[in-house]
Order: sequence, then C-alpha cells, then structure tokens
Amino acid sequence: MTETHPTDPNCIFCKIIAKSIPSTVRYESEHVYAFNDIHPKAPTHLLICPKAHYPTFSETPPEVLAKLNEETQKIAKQLGFDQRGYRLVINNGRESGQEVFHLHYHFLAGKQMGGL
Ligand code: AMP
Ligand code: ZN
Repeated sequence: MTETHPTDPNCIFCKIIAKSIPSTVRYESEHVYAFNDIHPKAPTHLLICPKAHYPTFSETPPEVLAKLNEETQKIAKQLGFDQRGYRLVINNGRESGQEVFHLHYHFLAGKQMGGL
C-alpha cells in the first residue's frame, strides 16, 4: 500500500480517511485510520480501517489484514485495553448487517460484555 492505495470516491469511510468528512480520529498511521463510531455501542467504540478501500473482510488481501491486526494490537495497548479486554467485530456481507462496504473492525471496550 502506498499513496496510490485503492479508494472509492463514493465510499463514506474513504471520505473520512481523506478528511473530506469529519470524524473523531483516535489513531492514524500510514496504513490505518481509527475513529469513533458515531453511534457507540460501548464506552469506547472505534472503527479501525485500512486506508485502502476493500469492501469486505473476504476481499481483503492477507498482508493488509496482517498490518491491520498489528496496528489494532497497538491501538488496544495505547488505549490501555490490552489487559482489561476488548471485543473486535467484523460484519462481512449483507446478511451480517454490514452497512458500510469499506473493511472496518469494530473495537468495543470499556464495559463488561456478555456472551454473543
Ligand atoms: P457496519 O454495520 O459494520 O458496516 O458498521 C458501520 C458503522 O459505521 C456503524 O456502527 C455506524 O454507526 C458507523 N458510521 C456510519 N457513518 C459514520 C460516520 N460518519 N462517522 C462515524 N461512524 C459512522
Ligand atoms: Zn472506502
């Protein structure tokens, strides 16, 4: 991934990453962008995205996932949740309820969670 990473001009998360739509950014690096979910389901609810546009988890190259995982671990540590715990959720495709087709991890933390 470089500056020429794939983007979709109609994608809301591409627009957020490009900062043409505002967000509360919590972490940013060359490859990854994390921001607050606008409808939080937990005291901390981030959306962690690769800057590159891949519509679903299924379509994302393994090396992009590896980078995303590495930086998600880093974010968890930076926010102090690596010991307390956190939940990662990926909605993949229509039946999962995925609404935004730019890969993102929901990072949920800051309260005791029950079973799925
Ligand atoms: P998903 O259903 O997994 O595609 O999740 C999409 C998430 O994006 C939802 O939790 C929304 O609340 C969140 N969302 C949609 N638009 C925005 C936005 N402009 N800023 C922050 N979060 C958003
Ligand atoms: Zn996108």
